[in-house]
Amino acid sequence: MNNIRNFCIIAHIDHGKSTLADRLLEHTQTVTEREAKNQLLDDMDLERERGITIKSHAIQMNYIHEGSTYTINLIDTPGHVDFSYEVSRAIAACEGALLVVDAAQGIQAQTISNLYLALEHDLEIIPVLNKVDLPSANPEEVKDQIIDLIGCEDEDIIMASAKTGIGISDILEAVVKRIPAPEGDPDAPLQALIFDSVFNPYRGIEAFFKVVNGSMKSGSAVKFMNTGSKYDADEIGVLRLRQEPQKEIGTGNVGYIISGIKEAKEVKVGDTITTVERPADKPIAGFENVKPMVFAGIYPVDTDEFEELRASLEKLQLNDASLTFEPESSAALGFGFRCGFLGMLHMEIIQERLEREFNMTVITTVPNVSYHSFMKKDPERCVIVNNPTEFPDPTKMDHIEEPYIKAQIITKADYVGAVMNLAIEKRGILTNQVYLTSERVELSFDMPLAEIVFDFYDRLKSISRGYASFDYHPTGYRESDMVKVDVMLNGEPVDALSALIHRSNAFDIGKKICEKLKELIPRQQFMIAIQAAIGAKIIARETLSALRKDVTAKCYGGDISRKRKLLEKQKAGKKRMRQVGNVEIPQQAFLAVLKLN
Ligand code: GDP
Ligand code: MG
Repeated sequence: MNNIRNFCIIAHIDHGKSTLADRLLEHTQTVTEREAKNQLLDDMDLERERGITIKSHAIQMNYIHEGSTYTINLIDTPGHVDFSYEVSRAIAACEGALLVVDAAQGIQAQTISNLYLALEHDLEIIPVLNKVDLPSANPEEVKDQIIDLIGCEDEDIIMASAKTGIGISDILEAVVKRIPAPEGDPDAPLQALIFDSVFNPYRGIEAFFKVVNGSMKSGSAVKFMNTGSKYDADEIGVLRLRQEPQKEIGTGNVGYIISGIKEAKEVKVGDTITTVERPADKPIAGFENVKPMVFAGIYPVDTDEFEELRASLEKLQLNDASLTFEPESSAALGFGFRCGFLGMLHMEIIQERLEREFNMTVITTVPNVSYHSFMKKDPERCVIVNNPTEFPDPTKMDHIEEPYIKAQIITKADYVGAVMNLAIEKRGILTNQVYLTSERVELSFDMPLAEIVFDFYDRLKSISRGYASFDYHPTGYRESDMVKVDVMLNGEPVDALSALIHRSNAFDIGKKICEKLKELIPRQQFMIAIQAAIGAKIIARETLSALRKDVTAKCYGGDISRKRKLLEKQKAGKKRMRQVGNVEIPQQAFLAVLKLN
């Protein structure tokens, strides 16, 4: 136990966490050069392509320091806000953290929010200034930012480059010297914290855990304390480049367990494993069921593929318990599923995986948050609204509540005005403003989650020329004046285009939706009236004129692969268009409300 060190790397996205992890694995010869592919920890194709870590993983290294061998467990964490619960569990399994900050970019929103999580768990923080090789690096200024933020000394900060290898051995020395060994009672009943799980099609669910007290023995009967389910520990082991089976995982160490579990929902991140024979009297505190925050309809383009879509979603759910779905139907789109996601990135990932891994062509409707409505006849009872079409009759409704968040934005002082204007337009209220340095400001807002779903992030990036970073945390529900804006094409309502919008913005957004649809819907042989309405009241109208006969079809530019893809799609008879009444609507139109500016 004295020779174990458990740590994670916390960083804002792109500051070099995965690259640094690769260097540490090479330096400790955990991987041979032949095995060293870039970004070893990100093993899902999608993760590699997007260069982001979606699921956290753990890996064990050996490191020799002053003649003794140390077992070092590195727990990789996802950097994106959608997955913050996974970050917090991974952090709870560690005694220390490398705080990696890009020497050119400085401290960003997720640096700070993850740092707070680490401090809450009393982790020893090792600040690392990464990318010092960059010509644009500004190490002195960023060092000052770090000193201000965590109150460390100048010499505590390690200068590093995950690219060239500068500072890598200093980091390993610091891990051994500065991070404390795990504590825990080897003789106590087993308590192992699950910080992650993955689905393996051949072996079922693999859960990753840290033994907090006692030890886990291969073959023993174990119990998952929050779900109550019991299994045999068929195989346990440690994670190297490959899994290495072991007879026992002792106190303080990190390992995996495979026990024939087939579904992700059986194994919950944050749960505690104990033994059936000598169970612990309570789980390790702090288990939380993650709930989807954003909902959208997913429909097959080809209505025959409904069952195939269901099978694909079921498969995805096997390894992603945070994805939820239930069947729904739409007059415009037919049969599909209302899916729940942790956030917008999660939604994009699921959509992309459906297309790549399952070869599905789908239409996604405008995402919305989950509303709580209360009816006059029973004002105590909360009716959950996850779909605009379920919006209750306003005359019978007592009130409706929407989810709020605390948003933290870090930006350059020059852009404070623009960021404030955007946040106010998005119904945000400034709650705090702190100058981190004379140049950089941290702004906190109370704002509705729904406003983040609608193009907030893209606009924040553009108004700040990329110099703003953003993070958020849900803070609960508040009463709000929401209305349902419907869209009609030639007088026919298209349910899949309805959106729930705050009354103060409804007219403006209704108008913009009509304008955007006019742009997105291709002209057809007849005129199309595009209208937005609240109840029976028309609030906006645009007219799309009919196509003249002599207009030649638009030619596509673009690269060959895109053209080929297009051809393939057409060959397969799958155009991402939907016929509604007599109007053809392209996929982008269903997301028009997201791209209004
Ligand atoms: P993560 O999102 O924190 O995991 O960041 P990555 O490890 O994926 O790195 C983001 C980008 O920064 C990649 O293009 C890396 O090649 C690059 N990068 C990482 N570390 C360094 C470094 O020390 N120097 C330079 N110049 N680039 C780096
Ligand atoms: Mg990464």
